[in-house]
Amino acid sequence: MSIKGLVRLGGALACAFALHAANAQTVKITPLGTHAGELCDRDRATIFEDPTGVRILYDAGQSVTGGSDPRLGTIHVVLLSHAHTDHIGDRKIAGMDLGTCDRPETVSALPNTTVAEIAAAKNSSLIMIRNMAFFLSRKIENIRGKPVGTCAEPGGAIAAIQAAPCIAPVELGGSKVVKAAGAANGVEITTVYAAHDSTLTRDMLTDAQKKALEPDNISVSLGAPSGYVIKFTNGLTVYLSGDTGLHTEMKTVVRDFYRVKLAVMNLGPNAISSEAAAYAMNELVDPVAVIVSHPNEGVTTGGKLKPGSRTARFIDLLRGKSAYLAKSGTTMEFNGAAQCVGGCN
Ligand SMILES: [Zn+2]
Ligand SMILES: [Zn+2]
Repeated sequence: MSIKGLVRLGGALACAFALHAANAQTVKITPLGTHAGELCDRDRATIFEDPTGVRILYDAGQSVTGGSDPRLGTIHVVLLSHAHTDHIGDRKIAGMDLGTCDRPETVSALPNTTVAEIAAAKNSSLIMIRNMAFFLSRKIENIRGKPVGTCAEPGGAIAAIQAAPCIAPVELGGSKVVKAAGAANGVEITTVYAAHDSTLTRDMLTDAQKKALEPDNISVSLGAPSGYVIKFTNGLTVYLSGDTGLHTEMKTVVRDFYRVKLAVMNLGPNAISSEAAAYAMNELVDPVAVIVSHPNEGVTTGGKLKPGSRTARFIDLLRGKSAYLAKSGTTMEFNGAAQCVGGCN
């Protein structure tokens, strides 16, 4: 073989080795629900940890105790798909395992919301649609008594560790990169379309706004609802559906352009039926693996899927995909090819 050929072979081997090494690294995914080891009605909050250590909280919602929840640990990035109460967190749990899995017991988190409480406590970067970032920045200012600035992006990336909470507002389709200190690559976070709504309830507004809107029985919308696509540094690309009905961008954007391998699919009958959600996974997004979240029903008892549930129906309709329940406190580990290599059952 010529020297050139040897060099080429060496390059190919090095490349294959690098790919293998990246694949061996895992993204850790930990749902934070109301009941340990179960998937319950209100559960949405999920932590993603990149191999470089970047930790992302998606839709804190109502199943956390707020900024002091001991399960949170470090949170570098806070994501919010839309402004509905069950995602922004108008209520929170007072502790684990209170009430039933179908009807967990919660207390008010107003006026702050769980998302603002957590971002304030953790000095997180808020990556979300512009008006939601602005709305939450005021809440965080109220908690901390200091103004909230825009996240700096030296070299095109937000540093994972920030000295204070900051906002990184995006429009639909916009991307931000978050990078751990000393890491070669960052985690890329992009908002994608969701067929839904992003209206606040009036009780989250100031008294003056409430009074102005009450006679018309309407409230304000905080811009477009969204899902997210996250590209992790081990090559794993994840679709977070947000609350959504079926839409064609699941195929044209999420599948054809981003080529996602893992989907976190929100169920919940106000947004989508089990049949439509299964169609989205089988025919439009076509990931290797699916994590079920946002069930709006108690899905498990003793950690086992309840037969006859809408979630069971959804899983039954999936074709050729691994399906995992987002059980609270169970950390699942995925390699770059979306194979679950730990914590799944
Ligand atoms: Zn919603
Ligand atoms: Zn929802």
